[in-house]
Amino acid sequence: MVIRSARKPKKTWAKAKAQSIRLVGRCRYCKKEITNDESFVCFADKTCGHYECMRLDDEKKPTAFDW
Ligand SMILES: [Zn+2]
Repeated sequence: MVIRSARKPKKTWAKAKAQSIRLVGRCRYCKKEITNDESFVCFADKTCGHYECMRLDDEKKPTAFDW
């Protein structure tokens, strides 16, 4: 019995992703528009922000975010 490891190229997925880029909202940190092809986070108060912006902002705080 031969088991082949399936290495699927994710071309179709990448294409579908590129076609479905949508505006998520405005970043609460840098005020730029966020598209869903970027890493972003949404908060409980319905605001969103770039993940990178949140991370940078978080680093500035003396206390760590307690999840
Ligand atoms: Zn941002």
